[in-house]
Amino acid sequence: MTLTETLEAAIRSIPDYPKPGIVFRDITTLLGNASAFRRAIDELVHPYAGTKIDKIAGVEARGFILGGAMSHQLSAGFVPIRKKGKLPHETVRIAYSLEYGVDEMEMHKDAVKAGEKVILVDDLIATGGTAEGAVKLLQQMGAEVVASCFVIDLPDLGGRRKIEALGVPVRTLIEFE
Ligand code: IMP
Repeated sequence: MTLTETLEAAIRSIPDYPKPGIVFRDITTLLGNASAFRRAIDELVHPYAGTKIDKIAGVEARGFILGGAMSHQLSAGFVPIRKKGKLPHETVRIAYSLEYGVDEMEMHKDAVKAGEKVILVDDLIATGGTAEGAVKLLQQMGAEVVASCFVIDLPDLGGRRKIEALGVPVRTLIEFE
């Protein structure tokens, strides 16, 4: 099977979740499928094999699962980016836009050092508001965000352009309308 066929078969689509008219793309079925999960991680990391990547930064919560696997493959550290109030040590915080309204995310102040090469990962990019917040937080701390990776792109929502405007390349594995 091609990568697209594998991912299409492994990702579950749930109509009218979390509200009517929305089709939720659920990667838990991908995570539970050993060969599809391995293939997705291999595809996400292969452009960076042999490159020195210091850290993978994952967005809570599905970005933690993908990021942990990517960190292992690339021998990089892992940095959790979390919703506010969850991290125990000193943090830096940023507001980011959601479909309706704003929220805040944060990471530990000492999680990345200036000049470190970091890859951001999340399961899906839609409007790009979440990833934009995460990239800005990392860049504020002096990290060089060399790429952002997502299993799923919803290209109609324009997130890719928002992240590329920050000087960060976007890598995605499959698109859904
Ligand atoms: P954005 O900020 O509009 O790009 O939305 C992306 C964020 O919302 C990511 O953290 C995703 O995990 C989450 N998200 C939005 N829609 C979906 C979906 O259909 N499936 C899984 N996650 C989603």
